[in-house]
Amino acid sequence: MTRGSGPAKQKLRSAAQVEKLDKRYLWHPFTQMRDWEQEPQIIIERGKGSVLTDIHGKNYLDGVSSLWVTVHGHRKREIDAAVFAQLKKIAHSTLLGLSNVPAVLLAEKLVQIAPKGLTKVFYSDSGSTAIEIALKIAFQYWQQKGPAYQSKTGFISLREAYHGDTLGSVSVGGIELFHQLYKPLLFHTVKIDSPSCYRCGLGKTCPGCALACAEKAEEVISAHSHETAALIIEPLVQGAAGMLTHPPGYLKRIRELCTKYDILMIADEVATGFGRTGTMFACEQEKVVPDIMAVAKGITGGYLPLAATLTTEDIYQGFLGEYRELRTFFHGHTYTGNPLACAAAIANIDLFKKEKTIARLRPKIALLTEQLRRFKALDHVGEVRQKGFMVGIELVKDRAAKEPYPLEDKVGIRVVLECRKHGLIIRPLGNVIVLMPPLAITAKELKRMADIVYAAVRMITENNLPLKTS
Ligand SMILES: *Cc1c(COP(=O)(O)O)cnc(C)c1O
Repeated sequence: MTRGSGPAKQKLRSAAQVEKLDKRYLWHPFTQMRDWEQEPQIIIERGKGSVLTDIHGKNYLDGVSSLWVTVHGHRKREIDAAVFAQLKKIAHSTLLGLSNVPAVLLAEKLVQIAPKGLTKVFYSDSGSTAIEIALKIAFQYWQQKGPAYQSKTGFISLREAYHGDTLGSVSVGGIELFHQLYKPLLFHTVKIDSPSCYRCGLGKTCPGCALACAEKAEEVISAHSHETAALIIEPLVQGAAGMLTHPPGYLKRIRELCTKYDILMIADEVATGFGRTGTMFACEQEKVVPDIMAVAKGITGGYLPLAATLTTEDIYQGFLGEYRELRTFFHGHTYTGNPLACAAAIANIDLFKKEKTIARLRPKIALLTEQLRRFKALDHVGEVRQKGFMVGIELVKDRAAKEPYPLEDKVGIRVVLECRKHGLIIRPLGNVIVLMPPLAITAKELKRMADIVYAAVRMITENNLPLKTS
């Protein structure tokens, strides 16, 4: 384990001891801990590029970018150097009543790369907090705009949306499995159906449908606009819902509807931002400028927790006034604008330019598309969804009927465990196998990842193996 690293006085722990201590002391997120305790687990010690190394020295491809965050790879020289350099100046200072250099410089860079019209940056530490901030800004904006707008207090969100795990972001979420239990704690929101073409609620097929789903959305939006502060949407892809890709034109139409009915549009680019979908932000692909945009995951290249909520000048101006008017935005997290995290984020954004990350991603996206083609022929693959470097392979029990595997079959989990045996770390969303490799992954690694997943899907879905997750 700690061989040669760490302070000399630190007690050396064997790999076996660390494994034992994990099970004794840690409570893992989104994890049934009884299962966790019973199974051997992987503990990561280091990483380089797209490869993770565990405490036994075994290597794994990082097929989900350490939960959708890694961009240029692990131990990226420029980002390491930026964090070290900042560490020599100061690790943390507050943005409450003071400012710091990396926070200022990063804000300028974010505005430069964001869709034109987003001009102000409010920092926080996670996607969830970036969403809470977006919701509160939208709500307060209308309250301060004048008496005529005070009924605009509610939110419209999509079914099966995921915007984070804090209570405000769960309120605008719609994933039954995660969110149902907490209903009594949540505020009410108006839902529109997510435009999922694989299981179209309107029984139509794309593209012949003329975006009937957007028409349905208009019915809801027009009926509720007088009481709605904002509509919130994950642009192009609903990640946690199972990589549900939206039909082309839907996002643009939603932008038009928000303008038409005078409600703010919040784009949750937490998962899609920083090159994930093949452009810096997903909104660009439909030339959409939201009123508020939340970013997090990839912002530091996957190094440190940081998030930002960007707004238009109009929204920002709505908060200006005399001190005693209390138009202040009363919100702030202690580590807001942390200099180390901002330094990493600056280096991350600079690398996009220096290494032409987006342009170099294009052939890799095409290669991934090509690699995914063979999956479509498998008996238990219902749909393969891809937008850039976001992929969901939906496994189904019966392909013709699009019948899902029951939860207790743990099909996704079993495929993922099979992949681990062959040196690939991925994490499923129910029956959907998710692939989200670092943008820096090599063509060779990409092929290897697809090969491992292909074999694992066949192994689990075609061999009728007895259900055993160990
Ligand atoms: C991950 C995610 C969030 C929540 O971000 P955290 O940093 O986990 O709080 C919000 N929205 C989307 C679309 C996400 O994928």
